[in-house]
Amino acid sequence: MTPPMDADVLVLGAGAAGIAAARRLRALGRSCLVLEAGTRVGGRAWTDAAGLDLGASWLHVAEANPLTALARELGFTPYDDGRRRRDILLAAGRPASAADRAAYEAACDAWEAAVAVRAAAGGPDTSLGEAAPRGGRWDATVNHWFGAIINGVESERSSLIDYVATVLDGQNLMVREGIGTLVARLAEGLPIRLGARVQRLAAGMVAETGAGEFRGRAAIVTLGTGVLPELVFDPPLPEVVTRAIAGLPLAPVMKVALRAAGEERFGLPPFARLGRMIEGPGDRPCSWVLWPFGRPWAMAYIGGRLADSLPDAASAEAAARAELARYFGAAAVARVFPEPATVAHWPADPLFRGGYSYAHVGAAGARAVLARAAPMEGKLRFAGEACHTRYAGTVGGAWESGEAAAEAVSAALG
Ligand SMILES: Cc1cc2nc3c(=O)[nH]c(=O)nc-3n(C[C@H](O)[C@H](O)[C@H](O)COP(=O)(O)OP(=O)(O)OC[C@H]3O[C@@H](n4cnc5c(N)ncnc54)[C@H](O)[C@@H]3O)c2cc1C
Repeated sequence: MTPPMDADVLVLGAGAAGIAAARRLRALGRSCLVLEAGTRVGGRAWTDAAGLDLGASWLHVAEANPLTALARELGFTPYDDGRRRRDILLAAGRPASAADRAAYEAACDAWEAAVAVRAAAGGPDTSLGEAAPRGGRWDATVNHWFGAIINGVESERSSLIDYVATVLDGQNLMVREGIGTLVARLAEGLPIRLGARVQRLAAGMVAETGAGEFRGRAAIVTLGTGVLPELVFDPPLPEVVTRAIAGLPLAPVMKVALRAAGEERFGLPPFARLGRMIEGPGDRPCSWVLWPFGRPWAMAYIGGRLADSLPDAASAEAAARAELARYFGAAAVARVFPEPATVAHWPADPLFRGGYSYAHVGAAGARAVLARAAPMEGKLRFAGEACHTRYAGTVGGAWESGEAAAEAVSAALG
């Protein structure tokens, strides 16, 4: 006798995409069961007990972001610090002058314009770095900022066409209560099974986990592309789909949060963003936001080859402290931040293995392939940030892709 169905649709993963899919399925009158490997919901949207957003911290392109309205409806407090870029505090090891800062801003504008022009010119895909200006006093610094920091990998490693197609313009909002808190609130009341790591998804929509088997009539897979290759599909996925997944790896981004024990704030206001000029080949600064919402935290954001070189939390903390010491001195950093850091080492986390997706050079079409893939007679769909062709890498993009996948499988169920 065939065991009974657990739900119309199995949703794999309770991050933003999985939660959005489950909510939309419920609105469409479909039963669903969300299978989440971890012990919490939200995935890469995670606010810890101290109120720190250790994954996503901005609602990017807030005016088009579905989570902006949801945050307001739920009484959350979005906040715009009005800045798009970091403040340059150090140039060639000295405090940056007004002229340095103006030159940096101008170089950022020139970088964005050059990249857009090169992409609009058409032709085969190339690396973002190939299109970027070079040789100017600030070019390496700007390239590091848009590449390793914003995109999570050096611009030499990612696709120009994908970067331009998914570039995040518009307003960026932080949320006082935390983006992770917001996403978790939106999951309330949904049928979510925690601690259910799906190892195999077999014909007949049977999800095999360490916590038993679950059956559905359709499935939506929202695992990030860092771990998606570990999930066994039976029958195997079409080659075009596995190739698309391989073309969209996760950038190695991580966060280190240091808490100031006393009142010292280095004379910097809430939300201060620290940046400095790159001082030569191999110099790879991280980026900082200090005192968000007036809280006593300094948050380092580490990406690219620097993140690649930091295998664990201890090395990430040491790198963050060394970087902060360049601004304030090692003694002051040790005195102001005496406690061990909170480290979110996403690349080392076996449920993620990275921060957010970028496209390899030549893989610019991969997001659309993954978003449209409909194997198993359309009853299997993919969702998640990597599937969004415009807002990839974001919570809002993950949310929209989850909703779209829910619509698609519901239609396929007839
Ligand atoms: C440091 C950092 C900073 C970021 N900053 C921003 C930002 O400011 N703004 C922004 O919009 N975005 C940001 N992002 C990206 C954003 O967090 C993600 O794009 C988004 O949260 C991804 O949601 P998702 O649902 O696609 O995937 P995920 O959140 O990864 O959800 C997938 C879920 O699947 C689960 N899972 C994994 N394997 C299995 C399995 N085998 N079986 C069952 N479940 C499994 C995972 O535990 C996870 O909960 C940031 C990310 C990081 C890491």
